[in-house]
Amino acid sequence: MHTRPLPPDVDASAPAVAVPSSDLPARCDVLVVGAGPAGCAVATLLARAGREVVLVDAQAFPRDKTCGDGLIPDAHAALARLGVLEAVMARAHRVEAVRCVGPSGNSIDLPGELAVLPRRVLDELLCRHAIAAGARFVAPMRFEKPILNDGVATTADVSPRVVGAWLRQGERSFEIRADWVILATGAALVPLTAVDLCQRRSPSGIALRGYVHNPAMAAQIRSMDVVWHRSLRPGYGWVFPVGGDVFNIGVGILPGRGKPMPEVNLRSVLDAFTHCYAPAQALMAGGTLVGDFKGAPLRCSLDGAGHSRTGLLAVGEAIGSTYAFTGEGIGKAMETGIHAAEAILAGASDAEVRADYDARLARLKPRFDLYERANRVNAQPWLTDLVIWRARRSPRLHRRMAGLLNETSNPGNLFSLKGWLRFFTE
Ligand SMILES: Cc1cc2nc3c(=O)[nH]c(=O)nc-3n(C[C@H](O)[C@H](O)[C@H](O)COP(=O)(O)OP(=O)(O)OC[C@H]3O[C@@H](n4cnc5c(N)ncnc54)[C@H](O)[C@@H]3O)c2cc1C
Repeated sequence: MHTRPLPPDVDASAPAVAVPSSDLPARCDVLVVGAGPAGCAVATLLARAGREVVLVDAQAFPRDKTCGDGLIPDAHAALARLGVLEAVMARAHRVEAVRCVGPSGNSIDLPGELAVLPRRVLDELLCRHAIAAGARFVAPMRFEKPILNDGVATTADVSPRVVGAWLRQGERSFEIRADWVILATGAALVPLTAVDLCQRRSPSGIALRGYVHNPAMAAQIRSMDVVWHRSLRPGYGWVFPVGGDVFNIGVGILPGRGKPMPEVNLRSVLDAFTHCYAPAQALMAGGTLVGDFKGAPLRCSLDGAGHSRTGLLAVGEAIGSTYAFTGEGIGKAMETGIHAAEAILAGASDAEVRADYDARLARLKPRFDLYERANRVNAQPWLTDLVIWRARRSPRLHRRMAGLLNETSNPGNLFSLKGWLRFFTE
């Protein structure tokens, strides 16, 4: 396979969106660290509400983010809530369905509001949107550690309050004070540890993805194909059309809560994927690799991290806002960001803000737990064949599965004993 330069939508040539470090104020109302979907969501809503927001990121934008680039219905809803859906959809490649493919090769299509857009483009759009709302973006600017209020304990918490952050750009250090610091640094372990919220160092999963240009496959891969097979255990493979005859292809390994990460070489898993799924094989065989394959960790199921400490809220993948089972997290990252912003706007005190934010996350938790239970499919892919076999015979079950993707039906007990009984009878 040949390698060719990145096409425009993957390698956006627009100038970096950033303000020089000299523009970093000494203080602000809210410092948002990390300009991925979670951070941009908080920054947009708080800036729009009139708060003085500084948004920093370790990387200058536009920047790549290793991802499948799939926007599922929860992402569409969050983008709409932020007022940026139209701008995103003007650049994104619309897709009609998620195609779930079992080990036997049988498949079922789940329709929904779906699209694919390289994160290089999506995140720059979100960042520009936050800037347009009034946030000040400074990058590259790396968060190093929080500034604490000299050990003076608040009544609500015995630990000192976070009152700002130490940031670094090259050799220079910067100090910025803020009423609230938002940690939106994704699956990165160092910042999470620096704010003392890390409860589990190991990720929930790992994944690898690359872009492949192959015009011959444009008519054949039109949905977001997700494939389960015993050679991909405990995980899955995917091929998502990005548009412009380019496809995002990748594999993820998600062993499930409490299970050790198997020693796997993701490139070998990718090879296994191209062997077990004919469209992936055809894509790779006749295609041109665009850029390099890249791997990244995932933190899932709202597990593995504290959500806040006095003066600081953590949002997005930093608190595990990615779904186990499917590895999707763009929508839920934005949702946690929206909740953090709303909690800050509504709360009169530190304690109120933190309690409100916690309660909001607790309401999201059952859905994460459901995806965690569904994650057993990644270890036992024959279950997908069973589900596909049933859903192809039961329009009602098919609708329920689509409702789950679209978040229009209550997941309820789909993966409980009662749910399984219904599964075989309805
Ligand atoms: C291979 C792969 C495929 C995936 N596919 C999909 C998919 O198809 N659909 C989907 O919905 N989800 C997918 N996900 C999950 C998705 O990428 C995450 O859920 C999502 O990016 C989380 O958003 P976030 O804003 O919390 O973090 P991120 O998007 O990771 O953003 C964090 C930001 O923080 C910055 N940062 C980190 N450390 C520092 C620091 N010290 N100082 C300053 N800034 C810092 C980073 O530069 C980055 O810009 C995939 C993940 C992987 C790894």
